[in-house]
Amino acid sequence: MNLKTDLYINGAWVKGNGTLPVYDPATGSVIAEVQTAGEEECAAAVDAAFAAQKSFAATAPRVRAEILRKAFEIMIAEADDIARLVSRENGKVFSDAKGEVLYAAEFFRWFSEEAVRTPGDFRKSPSGDKRILVTHQPIGVSLLITPWNFPAAMATRKIGPAVAAGCTMILKPAGETPLTALYIVGIMERAGLPKGVLNFILPSKTGPMLSKVLHDPRVRNLSFTGSTEVGRVLIKEAADTVLRTSMELGGNAPFVVFDDADIDAAVAGAMLAKMRNGGAACTAANRFFVARKVAEEFTTKFAAAMSALKMAPGLDDGAQLGASVSMKERNKIAELVDASVKSGGKLITGGKTPEGDGAFYPATVISVDKNNEILKNEVFGPVAPIVVFDTDEEGIALANDTDFGLISYVFTEDLKRGIRAAEALEAGMVAINKGVISDPAAPFGGVKQSGLGREGGFAGIHEFLETKYIGVEI
Ligand code: NAD
Repeated sequence: MNLKTDLYINGAWVKGNGTLPVYDPATGSVIAEVQTAGEEECAAAVDAAFAAQKSFAATAPRVRAEILRKAFEIMIAEADDIARLVSRENGKVFSDAKGEVLYAAEFFRWFSEEAVRTPGDFRKSPSGDKRILVTHQPIGVSLLITPWNFPAAMATRKIGPAVAAGCTMILKPAGETPLTALYIVGIMERAGLPKGVLNFILPSKTGPMLSKVLHDPRVRNLSFTGSTEVGRVLIKEAADTVLRTSMELGGNAPFVVFDDADIDAAVAGAMLAKMRNGGAACTAANRFFVARKVAEEFTTKFAAAMSALKMAPGLDDGAQLGASVSMKERNKIAELVDASVKSGGKLITGGKTPEGDGAFYPATVISVDKNNEILKNEVFGPVAPIVVFDTDEEGIALANDTDFGLISYVFTEDLKRGIRAAEALEAGMVAINKGVISDPAAPFGGVKQSGLGREGGFAGIHEFLETKYIGVEI
């Protein structure tokens, strides 16, 4: 595969002020050196996006829709190649990477359909003195910042609605996984996106250089996906220019199993909710709360399924659990497990850090009490702490005992009980009897410190649109 490693500014692939190595976390070897942006390239990206904004906003929605549709088709046709690239730079196994690429492509298809359906409103005012017209206009130049855990899907979930809405962009991916983002930029170029509309930067000094971009008054929107910690910093920065922000932040998802749950289905759901992406998902189930009556059966079956997973480099045949994105991330996971065990957690399976250069950590199940520190952290890895509860109220209270509120999972055979729980769970999304509910056609996002705004669904395009009211004397 011909890897793209240059910056992309104003429709041209250009060099920057240096290079950044991208590693294969399964071996520790360098895959490529990607160009980094200096002050000059960051400023040029803003100039280009600003210069293209007016004409792009004026393009017919159908034209923008067709570009997205074409990008969807290219991505589907090249899905295997892209999945291999995702797996190499991120560490996840090929099947997870392929699943991500197909999911990522769907954002282009969904937003190609949304581009031509932006709603408006025309009404007589209640007093009859005027007509009320409501329309939606692109916000303008948008800075898109994405994390390493879904290098394809987090980029398309932002590029899709931005193109549909008519916004120009500056894309800044995570330094660990820029190659997938560059590939997607190449797809947008091939799909016919006009020059200047999408610009790619990888600043050599992330914080200070992006702060400068954010403070440029020509930048009008920030769409960020990443940790709550960095999100907080960016919300403060955004206050200076009253910048519109979308924040898709961290999670610490509870997985609640009631005493009437179908345990085999709950275990299958738990494997998906916990192990997709090796546990490195903002939606990953991180805290398992299981009713006492079924706790033993669930724990035994779940631990058996976890310990049966084949841990190997993501592109190896039959690999089911790949490497973490880096040694640093892997060591963080190991430290959390060690601390949990020290404070009373009982290991059921896993928990032993393997030797060697690959950033591997085994699938781990720990039985803990409700005060164990591991429950307070977003473990971005294959680790499942299990807590036993006695009543539904207690299970829900434990699930809600967190500053995060992205997604919650609940398993029960009684739909009424499931809906009641879903209404009581403090989360932007609730999965009932399902291990994965992410869908480009549904609103994705969190409450509490998991974020602001929604991506995907009918709401997604509105993160890139501003509402305008026009009052008319008739
Ligand atoms: P991170 O917050 O460390 O980094 C995210 C992005 O922000 C990267 O591109 C990084 O380079 C950039 N960044 C870091 N410091 C910055 C600064 N000072 N100014 C501007 N940009 C800065 O997150 P990560 O480790 O890449 O990803 C994991 C986190 O992302 C987890 O917390 C996970 O839950 C979250 N996440 C959330 C969602 C969601 O939709 N809610 C989806 C995926 C990941």
